[in-house]
Amino acid sequence: MRSEPEMTSPPDKFQDHCGLFGVTNHPEAARNVYLGLYALQHRGQESAGIVTSDGQRLHLEKGMGLVADVFDERRLARLGGPHATGHVRYSTAGASFLLNAQPILINGWRGQIALSHNGNLVNAAELRFQLENDGSIFQTTSDTEVILHLIARSRKETFEEALMEALLAVRGAYSLLVQTPAKIFAVRDPNGFRPLSIGRLGESWVFSSETCALDLIGATHVRDVECGEIVKWSPASDALESTMIPQLVKPSQCIFEHVYFARPDSVVFGKGVNSSRYQMGRILAEEGPVAADLVVPVPDSGLPAAIGFSDASGIPFKFGLIRNHYVGRTFIEPKQAIRHFGVKIKLNPVAEILRGQRVVLIDDSIVRGTTSKKIVEMVRAAGAREVHVRISSPPTISPCYFGIDTPTKNELIASSHSVAQIQEFLRSDSLYFLSQDGLRRAVGDRSNFCTACFTEKYPIPIEADRSQLDLFRKET
Ligand code: AMP
Repeated sequence: MRSEPEMTSPPDKFQDHCGLFGVTNHPEAARNVYLGLYALQHRGQESAGIVTSDGQRLHLEKGMGLVADVFDERRLARLGGPHATGHVRYSTAGASFLLNAQPILINGWRGQIALSHNGNLVNAAELRFQLENDGSIFQTTSDTEVILHLIARSRKETFEEALMEALLAVRGAYSLLVQTPAKIFAVRDPNGFRPLSIGRLGESWVFSSETCALDLIGATHVRDVECGEIVKWSPASDALESTMIPQLVKPSQCIFEHVYFARPDSVVFGKGVNSSRYQMGRILAEEGPVAADLVVPVPDSGLPAAIGFSDASGIPFKFGLIRNHYVGRTFIEPKQAIRHFGVKIKLNPVAEILRGQRVVLIDDSIVRGTTSKKIVEMVRAAGAREVHVRISSPPTISPCYFGIDTPTKNELIASSHSVAQIQEFLRSDSLYFLSQDGLRRAVGDRSNFCTACFTEKYPIPIEADRSQLDLFRKET
């Protein structure tokens, strides 16, 4: 009997924020993917990569940092060929090294395969143990590589069959761009957790996590990749071929894309994100009314909801907090700094707006609670007479295992504190969270959303994996 394999190199980080972009059949494929990734930068700031195909071979360039820092003229010039896919990635903790940057490119017996993944597999650890036990040698600590190993090891005759076999083995969230020298596949898992859109630019097909990136390169949004759909492009035909993954599950698309993650100028899961957030704000004003002088958004995430709140309540909207848009991931503090800059480096109150006012502060979510607490303190210090906090989503009570980076359950303030206790922690004059019903109404009640972060009802059972996933989180 085989013994359980030792876990020598556990995946360091299971939650990846990511963005995907791909272009077929374009004389400037790499440059268009560069632009697409630029528009998807909010989905990942840690690394960026582009793979191109000249029809014979794949060429890869990737690096740590922002898209504009990773790619320069010299690097883009090395990315020849009319077909390209790319990826931006963000993981908050753990070993964030270049090997984990995507696309991940392998040379297998089937030839070259490049994979870009947005989402998170919930059975990656089990699969990895099995694969390592059977002799696979992993290069990265990311769950994405499991898919490549499954494709590479498949005995199926065609690439398409091998891809399908791999997808039937994995569970969880995956929007994928898979590129070989001759083909590009765009895939969404059967639940459809993460978005993936298809666009058209002249003769080219374009694939993008969000439609805002289609806009930038002038592509029109044709449709989304369906939940459970594998869309195949090959030079043999201009038309895309579609195959469904034969797993019957109810779609459960991520509601948090509408709450926080996606850009408001994107259409996600068939609905404009801005209008969802605006409605969240309107409904929030109806559910949690308050007598106040000003509605102030926490920029940028609270903006559309604050406009909705102001319109519905009649309370004037004012920019009482200004955000520095140029803050990078790290900054140098004065050597002798006694106090920690924290949220101050990002946000600064406008005292002349806030002084003496009863302020309604609007933000999209409270995760740990630390940011909101500092903002309340900052607004009060700037002279506000009262600070009322309104949150345009329900309390976040459970971690996401499907690709949104959230801390473990015990770090989520709402998992262990009532609304009254959170208000006490924030030291705000009042606090109200949008109801679950209000959120559903705001996004259009089609009941095909994953709301697990607010309900702890996971659409894919993860009980068996959860302790292991949390273990990995702790190790980061
Ligand atoms: P905190 O409650 O201090 O953990 O932070 C809440 C703030 O983080 C809110 O302003 C949200 O807009 C923002 N936020 C919510 N979810 C995430 C996430 N997954 N990653 C980064 N920031 C987030």
